[in-house]
This record gives sequence, structure tokens and C-alpha cells, in this order.
Amino acid sequence: MPYIDTHTHLDFAAFDPDRDQVLSDCARLGVERLVVLGVTRSNWQAVWQMCKQHTSLYAAFGLHPMFMAEHAAEHVTALQQCLAERLGDARCCAVGEFGLDYWHKGTDRAAQQQLFEAQLQLAVEYQLPSLLHVRKAHADVIATLKRYRPARGGIIHAFSGSSEEAREYHKLGFKLGLGGAATWPQATRLRQTIAQLPGEQLVLETDSPDMAPAFHAHQRNSPALLPQIAAQLAALRGESVAQFSARCWQNSCELFQWSA
Ligand SMILES: [Zn+2]
Repeated sequence: MPYIDTHTHLDFAAFDPDRDQVLSDCARLGVERLVVLGVTRSNWQAVWQMCKQHTSLYAAFGLHPMFMAEHAAEHVTALQQCLAERLGDARCCAVGEFGLDYWHKGTDRAAQQQLFEAQLQLAVEYQLPSLLHVRKAHADVIATLKRYRPARGGIIHAFSGSSEEAREYHKLGFKLGLGGAATWPQATRLRQTIAQLPGEQLVLETDSPDMAPAFHAHQRNSPALLPQIAAQLAALRGESVAQFSARCWQNSCELFQWSA
């Protein structure tokens, strides 16, 4: 059974000691394609180098809302150049990671919104999917997407919203990224929501090294855990692993315009 990890930070230092081992574990376990997301201008080059070295890796480039202090106005121009240079190269598969994060009370929402819109504009311009980080900000993200209507849609990564929000994203052409969060028994509301989401909207992800599943609590998360995470999510939905995983594979291929 093949899998696509639509969201990993395999370039992070947590993988420095054994990155090649993780990738060979992925190959052995059927995690055939992985999307590695740039989060600040400073990591784009490393992400790109890695993706050129390994045929299973695909790159996305963005300016993450949790790292506002590291971004500068000219980084949007740099992102535009980065995307323009790679236009037509299948290895560069999306804009991301970007979005809105209202977790911290004191955050400058206006600055986040401006950066969010600048990157959505690039996704529209270069006709790429948007890989979005959305925390406590679904209403503003949905309202903004309704104004921009990016034709390629994208993924709401680590989705933990409501069924109503899922429906709004569906109308806007957005898939929902599911991973380790729902493997925790205490995530009752999320587990109930996931059981009811339409299968055509779901894709798999790990967000590794973060968001470890419950069966691997407080350890480094890894894309090699994706098949086990998928098995738990399938059980939650009352589907067979084969059926659920095949659907997620197909949904991801459609979104990225990859051959199945
Ligand atoms: Zn991420």
C-alpha cells in the first residue's frame, strides 16, 4: 500500500543524525512520496537540495506565520523569485507553509494577514496549491480564500476544525491534512469530526518531527510512522486501511497533479 506524507519537515535538525535511515525506512514501508515544506527564507535552499537528491521528495516554499520575527518584506520578493526559477519543475509542488496562527494572544494579526495574502497571490499567479497552517484562525482564512479563490486549492494542514469549516474548505477546493493528532484518545471532538468527513477531502501527513502520534508519545515523529497513523485513522472512520489509504493517495495525486 503506497502512502504520501503531504507535510513533513525532514530538513529540520532533528533528522540530521539519521535522515538517510528514515528515508530508507519510508521506502521499505511504502511511504513513496513526501512533501518537505520551507518555513523561512533561510531553509529554502536546504529543502531544495534535499529534494533534488532524493526522488521521493518534493518541495514547497513559504513563510510560516509562527516565525514572523524572522521574515522581512523582501522575503516575499525572494519567494516570488524562488518560485519563478522553479516554474515547471515538478519537484517544486506548492507554496507553503504559510497561513494564519492566532494561538498567541499578542500576535500582530494585521502583519500575518498581509503576509498570508501576499503568498496566496503568488499561489494564484504561479498556479500552485497552497499548503496552509491554520490555528484558531479558520474564519479569517476562509474569508480570505473566498476573496482570492486560488484555482489549485490546497491543503489545510493538521486540520482540527469543525464539520462546517471542513465544508467551507471543500467548496474552496481545499483538502484536509490528517495525522497524529487524532490518534490521541483525549482528542474526542477531532475524532468525531474525522469519522464524518467526506473521503474525497482527506490526505495524510505527519508534520514530523512534530505532532507525534499517541503510540509514539513525546518522541520524534517520523514519516516512517505514516502507515501506522493511517491504520488508526481508518479504524476511526470504520474503513479498511487499504480503502482509506488508497483514497488519500488518490486525493493527494489529484491535488499535486501527480500520476497515480
Ligand atoms: Zn509544518
